[in-house]
Amino acid sequence: MIIVPAEEVARLLPYEECIPLMRDAMIALSEGRTRQLLRSILDLPEGRAFGSMLGAMLDDGTFGAKLVSVYPDNFAHGGHSHQGAVVLFDTETGAPSAVLEAGEITAIRTAAASAAATDALARKDASRLAILGYGEQAWRHVQAIRCVRDIGSIAIWGRSSGKAKAFADRVGGEAAASAEEAVAGADIVCTVTAAAEPILESRWVADGTHINAVGSSRAGPAEIDNALVARARFFADHRPGVLAQGAEFIRARDAGLIGEDHLLGEIGEVMAGMVPGRTGEADVTIYKSLGSIVQDLAAARHILQRLNAAS
Ligand code: NDP
Repeated sequence: MIIVPAEEVARLLPYEECIPLMRDAMIALSEGRTRQLLRSILDLPEGRAFGSMLGAMLDDGTFGAKLVSVYPDNFAHGGHSHQGAVVLFDTETGAPSAVLEAGEITAIRTAAASAAATDALARKDASRLAILGYGEQAWRHVQAIRCVRDIGSIAIWGRSSGKAKAFADRVGGEAAASAEEAVAGADIVCTVTAAAEPILESRWVADGTHINAVGSSRAGPAEIDNALVARARFFADHRPGVLAQGAEFIRARDAGLIGEDHLLGEIGEVMAGMVPGRTGEADVTIYKSLGSIVQDLAAARHILQRLNAAS
């Protein structure tokens, strides 16, 4: 069995390669060329969780699973909050064939998928980026979004002004005193926090903004308020997933502000030209990312292909 540690994942999955991979994977998902179950989450004590995701790519039969622990408290100690394994199986024999470190795959593929969504939905001239959060995904989103738009300024907000300042220095951005200040004038906003209640309000967001809502991966915690969901053209990574587990959408729906038809489509449908994405300069667009096993499988398959090509 092939074992691929985190450093090898990082080396073999640069953003420039992962972004088009994610685009292809999301189109395949929306065209019915993949199979997946909804993510299962087992709650553990102290706010921790254990998740499993199963899926298959029907084009070449690749199938496998991701097992991931989520320990949000690791962040305060400088550790990784997401760790685990992506396991691929041999399509001929059914035997497990490779185990890849899942924290690194998750970190890269999530940001790459947001970048592909941003490329599809943000204004072409979008250059001012706001990041709410300064953890792993914040760092990855700065790198990935820079691959799809010419980013001229980056504003950072988080609960600790010291950490926000340190992160801003690391990415050549500016720390903001509040989330409202960070998103003022932003063209692209990424919410990448473990916040339980909304940190982003519609009244702070300018017309024309694109938002990647990434931090909540389950029914429960929500990063953006109901008014912003209701105002935006709203797209999902995976429609059944977001209807069942997309907290922001569920809250706005349960509050009676929107119906299920407010979910205009999957990002793969927009990318494939099946559903219109942005219709004008003033649209506010939201890409709701829950994370999808087909993203992990596509990334893992690519890494193994690169390893094979080198051997
Ligand atoms: P990290 O642990 O590295 O960072 C967590 C970030 O959230 C830190 O900036 C932390 O800062 C902040 N945070 C925690 N609690 C709050 C709060 N109540 N209000 C505001 N900020 C808060 O995690 P990652 O960067 O890896 O992941 C970020 C989020 O994205 C997580 O919720 C994770 O589950 C989710 N995620 C989603 C994926 C997807 O596919 N959609 C994939 C991977 C992760 P501080 O505590 O100092 O405030």
